[in-house]
Amino acid sequence: MQNITEQNYDVIIVGGGVAGLYTALNLDPSLKVLLLTKRELTLSNSSLAQGGIATVYDKQNDSFEEHFEDTLIAGGFQNDKEHVKILVEEGPDDVQKLIDYGVDFDKNAEGKIHLTLEGGHSKSRILHYKDCTGKEIVDKLILAVTKLPNVTVQSEHVVCDLKKTNHTFHLDIIDENNMHSTLHSNFVVLCTGGIGRVYEYTTNSAIATGDGIALAYRLGATIKNLHLVQFHPTAFANKNTRESFLISESVRGEGAYLLNCNYQRFMHRYDERLELAPRDVVSRSIMEEAKRTGSNNFYLDITHKNANYLKKRFPMIYASLLLEGYDLTKDRIPIFPCQHYLMGGIDVNENAQSSIEGLYACGECSHTGVHGNNRLASNSLLEGIVFSRRCAVEINHLIKQKSTEIEPYTFEQNANSEPIFHGIRTEIRSIMQQSHFVTPNLEEAKKGFQRIGELLNQIESGNFLVNRDFVEARSLATVAYLILKEVI
Ligand SMILES: Cc1cc2nc3c(=O)[nH]c(=O)nc-3n(C[C@H](O)[C@H](O)[C@H](O)COP(=O)(O)OP(=O)(O)OC[C@H]3O[C@@H](n4cnc5c(N)ncnc54)[C@H](O)[C@@H]3O)c2cc1C
Repeated sequence: MQNITEQNYDVIIVGGGVAGLYTALNLDPSLKVLLLTKRELTLSNSSLAQGGIATVYDKQNDSFEEHFEDTLIAGGFQNDKEHVKILVEEGPDDVQKLIDYGVDFDKNAEGKIHLTLEGGHSKSRILHYKDCTGKEIVDKLILAVTKLPNVTVQSEHVVCDLKKTNHTFHLDIIDENNMHSTLHSNFVVLCTGGIGRVYEYTTNSAIATGDGIALAYRLGATIKNLHLVQFHPTAFANKNTRESFLISESVRGEGAYLLNCNYQRFMHRYDERLELAPRDVVSRSIMEEAKRTGSNNFYLDITHKNANYLKKRFPMIYASLLLEGYDLTKDRIPIFPCQHYLMGGIDVNENAQSSIEGLYACGECSHTGVHGNNRLASNSLLEGIVFSRRCAVEINHLIKQKSTEIEPYTFEQNANSEPIFHGIRTEIRSIMQQSHFVTPNLEEAKKGFQRIGELLNQIESGNFLVNRDFVEARSLATVAYLILKEVI
């Protein structure tokens, strides 16, 4: 890890998940690039991805048309079709590049890449590394990025504010000791990930507070479809922790049954695709079944499959569940839906450019429109690499034509400021859980919108110390406000 010794960069990337790392790898090596992460480099939603990455790898048994169609069906045909075409047709080359960077996808007995099935896919097209694909991809991309002499990687630095003068962006950042500094660049790529921490229970990592979306919104960028939140149907039902451990879709892909409180399968009441229906359908079915039975107790059961195969196929899930006292090969596993993914975000074009010139957004914080109303499983890592590569290619091209002059700017810090008051984040999470969970509650959403508006006003108008707590509270309030504004 290098130290930030300079203030001016050709490109600043905010975020070190799959989107940020892949942007850095595709930028021209002659550019001076800074990549920032707010916690350690390995803490991101990307590192948590389990199931895998979808693409048409086996062109003999699969086709772009089928991947395109499956993506549209899952998205309720509300997807941006041009962008889905890009995702599907350009995906295989980017996945091949991951392999070239050393990503070790699982192979079958003949030594060919093993392709697995997940809910909503009509073909087995998910490349995976056991059940911890994200970590494998991130680890290999970090190795590649840290070898690039033109890229400075700096973790534990939070971007607190983003301003633009004529053609230069200015970033107010704080380090782990809350020391402020200002950075400047004519190109900024936001790769800040999701918003899970706006809910009480989420599969997302601690960094997922929607900072990039709030920064872009405050700068005037168009934000779209924030109410399109995906709830994963099978998070381990552990109410003692905010971060709910995910039991991947691929467990159902391998044949697991969903059971209600009476240990009976129930999906036939709601969808003919049964357990392999897309995740929004399964989440809604669970909530309907909960109403029907009067119980929130649900289980995933794969005990009818070969125990040795399961341990080999799902080593991370198996080990994590054992720590919680459950043996995947012998026990029914308690599950319940929780927040998982955001389909909306900073609205971008086919090259990940936002409505503000020079400001780009890639990965989960962006809205490319590829997911429509609901993301098809394992399409988000793919979106992260395809559109971040396109973003880098566009910047490589534009930077040659634009002024390299950097304009000056100084952020004013409030004197005599005080720490942000406690309880804001807890209140926001509780409001969101009540008003905009699997099936939104309009009455609660109206009340919640008003209350979150008040909180946001207090945050914006108060004289608070700008530290990590403040930034995250402001981001959560902004994101919650924007979600509920779209709902009511
Ligand atoms: C449990 C789980 C399982 C998943 N499984 C799959 C799967 O199998 N297949 C699939 O396709 N998708 C999966 N997903 C979704 C997918 O992992 C994410 O959508 C994707 O990895 C997001 O990548 P990203 O680069 O956009 O953001 P992230 O990987 O979340 O990275 C965000 C980065 O932004 C930085 N950051 C944020 N705010 C700031 C700030 N203010 N200042 C500085 N830095 C900041 C963070 O430090 C971090 O480095 C899963 C998600 C979860 C949570």
